[in-house]
Amino acid sequence: SQKVLSVEKLTKHFTLGKGRTLQAVNEVTFDIQKGETFGLVGESGCGKSTIGRTIMGLYEKTAGNVIYEGKNVHELGEKDQFQLRKQMQMIFQDPYASLNPRSTVREVISEPMEVHKLHKNKKEQLDDVYQLLEEVGLNRDHANRYPHEFSGGQRQRIGIARALALRPNFIIADEPISALDVSVQAQVVNLLKELQITKGLTFLFIAHDLSMVKQISDRIGVMYLGNMVELTTSDRLYENPLHPYTKALLSAIPIPDPDVEESRERIIVEGELPSPINPPSGCVFRTRCPFAMEICATRKPKWQEIEDNHYVACHLYSEEQEVNSSPKTIVN
Ligand code: SF4
Ligand code: MG
Repeated sequence: SQKVLSVEKLTKHFTLGKGRTLQAVNEVTFDIQKGETFGLVGESGCGKSTIGRTIMGLYEKTAGNVIYEGKNVHELGEKDQFQLRKQMQMIFQDPYASLNPRSTVREVISEPMEVHKLHKNKKEQLDDVYQLLEEVGLNRDHANRYPHEFSGGQRQRIGIARALALRPNFIIADEPISALDVSVQAQVVNLLKELQITKGLTFLFIAHDLSMVKQISDRIGVMYLGNMVELTTSDRLYENPLHPYTKALLSAIPIPDPDVEESRERIIVEGELPSPINPPSGCVFRTRCPFAMEICATRKPKWQEIEDNHYVACHLYSEEQEVNSSPKTIVN
């Protein structure tokens, strides 16, 4: 498979004044393969949206690199950045807030087409709008109506049609179903899956709900307080979670099989989420981790590939390798 996106030790800090810094994202590393859905999960304020916006080039990075199709997103000139917009698009959580209420659906969807001069004339453009409406499960009669005339699920479909207007290859969906009724969530997820297949799309799917992310993602990265703490395939994350925070997230999801439900390890996280302005020393999770050791306060755990395609940052797993003191620290 072919790599579409590489995020390399990406760091994004915001300066708040009075010498304070919000450490939104710290040295996060992952890549996304063509046609894959990569899920980014964690509670609100963990840096997921900041990663999405920094990948899009909407935020400058503080350090690290974002490489899209071989190009460094933050080192592009204006012209190349503009071209990149065609390939990379975003779907937002609140479709109502992200759609201009005074624009008709037709105007909403055709705006990016006009900016990028996609069509020779209005007729071609309108046909394209009609086609997109059909692709997202709406129809041409909806074109002259306004966003407020639609339900939440329909509005998200309009948001998706707009995101597809420039025929992108890569879509960042930032909590695209979190604001929708449960009954509508699955419909929107199914639409996204369908569009992924028919259009060959690659997705970064951001969510705080792990059960939802599992359904759609091939691989999942778990975020906590600006740090990625674990990354592996969706199945492996559920069957064999390694990081205590991942185990805690999974403990909150009921398992339908009563035998598994009874035998599994449950981790309940207590205490408050620390502030990313003043994060704990060492491991960011240590103030809430039931396994915290002395070393966790003084040394930040390394991001390591523990087994093939399974990464974790936790001293519980680095110990063994220090004892072995073998020069090849990564086991494949
Ligand atoms: Fe817990 Fe220590 Fe692992 Fe952090 S490094 S998750 S505090 S055991
Ligand atoms: Mg967010």
